[in-house]
Amino acid sequence: MVLGKANEMKSHLAMKCKGYVPKNVQLNFLRKIDNECESSKTSSISIKSNRADKALTRWFVCSGIPFVAADSLYFKDFTKSLNSGYNLSKRTAFATTHLDGELANITLKIEKKLAKAKNLTL
Ligand SMILES: [Zn+2]
Repeated sequence: MVLGKANEMKSHLAMKCKGYVPKNVQLNFLRKIDNECESSKTSSISIKSNRADKALTRWFVCSGIPFVAADSLYFKDFTKSLNSGYNLSKRTAFATTHLDGELANITLKIEKKLAKAKNLTL
């Protein structure tokens, strides 16, 4: 059990409270998190930023780079040199919003594949 903000509770129920939350409730919260990540970006610049945020989140996670690297002035300078219109998110956004969104996205994709799979054995 966790005390905190509504978004933290959503991600807790969707991803961390496995076994205690019914599957349909968990999937419902995963969809909400995934939709919030997608719908918060509407303009083409925001869509590109969203894509960059997702790519950076994957890079941080898959390379084992701590999110605190996002606060580095040199890293900010690097991202500005690639695209001056991109505003690098803070490390807290990578560690919460972007990571939760990516985890929800991947979990839903796995759930879809498993729902269509046949003859599974454990
Ligand atoms: Zn819990």
